[in-house]
This record gives sequence, C-alpha cells and structure tokens, in this order.
Amino acid sequence: MAGLTFLGLMVKPGWEVVSQIKPLEPSPAPEGFSGKKWAMAVDLKKCWEAKEGCKDCILACHLVHNVPSIGSLKEEVKWIWTIEYGKAFPEHLHDFNRDEYRGRPVIVFCNQCDDPPCVKYCPTRATWKREDGIVMMDFHRCIGCRYCMAGCPYGSRSFNWRDPRPFIQKVNLEFPTRTKGVVEKCNFCEERLAKGLLPACVEACKEKALIFGDLNDPNSEMRRILMGRHILQRQPELGTKPKVYYMV
Ligand code: SF4
Repeated sequence: MAGLTFLGLMVKPGWEVVSQIKPLEPSPAPEGFSGKKWAMAVDLKKCWEAKEGCKDCILACHLVHNVPSIGSLKEEVKWIWTIEYGKAFPEHLHDFNRDEYRGRPVIVFCNQCDDPPCVKYCPTRATWKREDGIVMMDFHRCIGCRYCMAGCPYGSRSFNWRDPRPFIQKVNLEFPTRTKGVVEKCNFCEERLAKGLLPACVEACKEKALIFGDLNDPNSEMRRILMGRHILQRQPELGTKPKVYYMV
C-alpha cells in the first residue's frame, strides 16, 4: 500500500496526491513543551518603519543555522527572506490598494502549518510535525527526493544542490551543517526554545516587529494580538493553517 502511494506521488499532480494521503500523527513535544503551540506574528507596520533594507532577522537566522550564501539565485538556500506584499498576499491585492503597499517587502519563512502538506509528501518521515506545532526536519533521514518541496505551496524549503559548507561565512558549531542533496527550512529555532531562548530572528529585530508565543496560552501576547488586530495569513484558502500571522 505504501508502495502504491509512493508510486502515486510520481504520477499525480501535487494537491490531488496530498488530499489522498492520511496525515501522520504528531510526534510528542519534548519535555517542557507539552501543551504549547508555537506561533509567530509579524507587525508589518513596524517592519516597514525599520531602516531601509533592514535584514537583521535574516542575518541572525542564517548565521545561527549555518545557512550558506551560495550567491546564485538558482541554488539559493534560505530560511527567512522577503517577497513583495502583492506576492505574499495575492488575494488581498486589488486595483485600489495603496500603491506603496504593493512593492513593500514582507518577510516570509516556513509557516509551520498546522496541516502541513510537506509532511504528507515525505516518503521517509524526514519531516514531521511535533505536538507543539513545529514542523521538524531530520537532515539525516532526508533522501533529497524533494517531494516536500513540491508539497509546500509557499516555497519555504530549500535544497542543497551542492555541498553548502564552503559557503558558510562562520560555522556555528552548536548547529549542524548540511550536505549536498538535503532539504532544509526554518525550524522556529526549536534548538533555542529548548534552552529557553527566543528565536534568533525575534531577538535580532530592533523594531520588535516579530512576536513569538504560545497559541494555547490565553494570556499570551500572541493571543492578545490575534484577538485585537487585523490579521493576514498566507493563502489560508489552501487549508494548511499557517501559524505565522501578519498584522497590517
Ligand atoms: Fe511545510 Fe511549507 Fe507549511 Fe512550512 S510552509 S510547514 S514547509 S507546507
């Protein structure tokens, strides 16, 4: 049966296949994380008020996670990056949007979807969702088939087309480097959360435009934001239930 599903993946288009696959059960969250559901909120107004071209969050993330700077768009590896507002939220673009909105940069990363299609695609369970909502990657289990990349409608995953190590500015020995043929993406800094630290991007943002917190805590700042502000998610109509929220 598993073999048939595997074959099916090769001949059918993405969403048709995903809709037929039974989701995996989430794996238990590590001790201390049970009962939590992590989410990120991005205050776009604050982000846009930052100094022009601010990349503090991107630099911090890529430094901490040994993300290589390949220097070629085709082979680029990225955990956080920016796209234009109109591309991030095409369903909110209409003829009468304020012009300055259209081209404004929006930071994007893995949405840590609550119903992640990438997980349903992976034939080796190298990617899976934890109880605390983080969609994990096991670099050693990844066979480089890139089905997860085909399954992600947000382009949130990168593939190492070549050995990334020579392209890492300064190796952080506390986080693994990857090899050629492995897929990677943002992990909500699960390794930092385990030490009681905030994600590196949140810590690096001087404008405090990134807010990280627990959706299950009714008294959290995250819940207050979600109840009190106008919120966008990226393509919620796909049913992936993104846990990255954008305040506009
Ligand atoms: Fe998976 Fe893409 Fe959702 Fe991240 S954004 S959980 S990679 S489907």
